Amino acid sequence: MSGNGRTIYIAGAGIAGMTLALALAKFGATVVVLERNAEVQEVGAGVQISPNARKILNRLGLDKALAAKSFEPSGIDVYPYGAREPLVTLELGRVVKERFGAPYAVMHRADLAEVLHRACRRFANIDMLFGVRAYDVVSHARGVSVTVDEADGKSRSARAFAFIGADGVNSRTRTDVLMGPPANYSGMVAWRITLGQAALDRVLIPGRTSLLWGPGYHAVTYPLPHRKQINVALFAKMKAERALHGAPPHAPDLPWAALKSRAFDAIREAAGDDWGYWPVSTVTTPTWAEGGIGLIGDAAHAMLPFQAQGAVMAIEDAAILAPLLMTETDAGSALRRYAGLRQPRVERVRKLSNANGFAFHLEWPFTLARNAVVKLQGPLGHLKRLGWLYGYDVAPDPQLAPPAPRPPRQDVH
Ligand SMILES: Cc1cc2nc3c(=O)[nH]c(=O)nc-3n(C[C@H](O)[C@H](O)[C@H](O)COP(=O)(O)OP(=O)(O)OC[C@H]3O[C@@H](n4cnc5c(N)ncnc54)[C@H](O)[C@@H]3O)c2cc1C
Repeated sequence: MSGNGRTIYIAGAGIAGMTLALALAKFGATVVVLERNAEVQEVGAGVQISPNARKILNRLGLDKALAAKSFEPSGIDVYPYGAREPLVTLELGRVVKERFGAPYAVMHRADLAEVLHRACRRFANIDMLFGVRAYDVVSHARGVSVTVDEADGKSRSARAFAFIGADGVNSRTRTDVLMGPPANYSGMVAWRITLGQAALDRVLIPGRTSLLWGPGYHAVTYPLPHRKQINVALFAKMKAERALHGAPPHAPDLPWAALKSRAFDAIREAAGDDWGYWPVSTVTTPTWAEGGIGLIGDAAHAMLPFQAQGAVMAIEDAAILAPLLMTETDAGSALRRYAGLRQPRVERVRKLSNANGFAFHLEWPFTLARNAVVKLQGPLGHLKRLGWLYGYDVAPDPQLAPPAPRPPRQDVH
């Protein structure tokens, strides 16, 4: 498809921003990505990419590069608090691939960022500006006007078809340009660490994802064999005053001494005080777009990471928004259509993530009922329940069929 001479600015070279840049560049758009960091930088360690996002990334030509850097766990072992053996192993691996047409994979975030960045660099029509100091954007009847203060102190101004804020949970595009709300601290912090690949072999089954439930906290571990590491994310409550202000703690302050869990004990022993610390915030804003300015990814809808879908939703956003920006006559209607298509699904995933948090953190005796239900649903229960999520395929969605071609408009850029 021809690019219609459209230029689109994107703030943020995260997963959302780079996926959108790639999708737009494939349609022939001229894309300018503004990133405040001096290089592509992914905070944290592992990321799980479910088939609904993988299908999109595969269509962007990234299948081989992702397969080379990711791992497909055969299942998720679920350990209720104190259990030495998994209550159930939820199938992933071959079963997911057969059922949903793409793998469920885990990988290091830096590897995903590198795959996306490399792909972006292959497009002459993607210009990535790093070290951007500030940007201003104004929407008007014929597009948007953007002013960028670049790393070297120079300022550039341009007209463009649209400006998309993919600038994460604390998005400036959301708060300062669209005058939307700030992010809300969720009351939970994520502790992240990567351990040596055999560090937990004594207590967990190698080659699988493990989900460890505790009263008020939980942990997820999975192997990153390409890096000879295991990724660990541990989620626990923390009051806002402590989580957001003052010096960050070095290690999770769980009641370690009282823990009756071999797995949590082993994690603590292996991790020491080397944890990364990440207060988890969420974003709910009714305004995803105004005129030619819109939001995608965490900037629009950061959610609790308890269904591992934040980055996946960002990838879906990009896949839906790109063709709309290239086919609708004006950016305002593309963005309105995009928001209308995305908001119900994102809200459903948000509710699922919240419900997971509730279930994962239950205390005795409520755990008894939860465990009984999970056991009863069995190894395929989650796949039956989540067909609407993992089986979703953006491309054949009839709502997304490009509208009939219209005579190209004189765009400004
Ligand atoms: C512990 C944890 C585990 C998670 N696990 C998963 C998982 O397994 N699977 C999954 O799908 N999701 C997961 N998520 C969620 C996922 O990390 C996020 O949803 C995803 O990273 C959002 O991507 P993004 O591109 O929207 O934002 P970000 O990744 O935050 O990227 C935003 C980019 O914008 C840049 N930026 C910010 N401000 C500016 C500015 N003013 N100017 C220019 N650039 C700017 C930033 O530097 C950054 O590069 C997890 C989250 C957490 C906290």
